[in-house]
Amino acid sequence: MNPRRDAVPAQSAVGTALAALTSCPACGAPAEITRRDVLESTDGPIEHVGVRCVQRHIFLMPTFLLDRVTQSQS
Ligand SMILES: [Zn+2]
Repeated sequence: MNPRRDAVPAQSAVGTALAALTSCPACGAPAEITRRDVLESTDGPIEHVGVRCVQRHIFLMPTFLLDRVTQSQS
C-alpha cells in the first residue's frame, strides 16, 4: 500500500515569489521581502520579515504589521 499525494508539491516556488512583494511602510513604494525570521518574544515566537523597498528603505518588522500596511494601501 503506497498512496500517492501528488496534487500539491511540498514547496511552491510560485507562491513564494508572490509572497515576497509588498509595499514600503515609509514611502509606499514597491518593496521586496528579503528575509523571514521567527524571533522569540514574551508572548511566544513571532515571525518577522525583512523588507527593502526601491528607495532602499530597510525594515525588520513582524508579519502582522506587514499585513496592515498592505491592507491600508487602497
Ligand atoms: Zn521606502
